[in-house]
Amino acid sequence: MVENPKQTETQTLQSLSKSSQWTHLSELKERYDSFILDCDGVIWQANNEIDESIKVIEHLEAIGKKVFFFTNNSTKLAEDLINKLKSFGYKNPKSD
Ligand SMILES: [Mg+2]
Repeated sequence: MVENPKQTETQTLQSLSKSSQWTHLSELKERYDSFILDCDGVIWQANNEIDESIKVIEHLEAIGKKVFFFTNNSTKLAEDLINKLKSFGYKNPKSD
């Protein structure tokens, strides 16, 4: 049987559309035990915290979720990133 590319594309879009329905934190935290967060553009933008990202991270940790940080910014050391998290008031930075 030959796949119909148009049908496959439609199915993919429908699948993406369904997955985008649970973008609220309350739904995500029910579904996952761990969160991997990008730093630039998610936790901070330049030297500014985005929204209340630290508050969200600390809430996730308080309810027993694991939070991991990553970045593709090779100009900073892990210590620099930890210090930046601290500058936004994050109280539990580890360098693991
Ligand atoms: Mg980014």
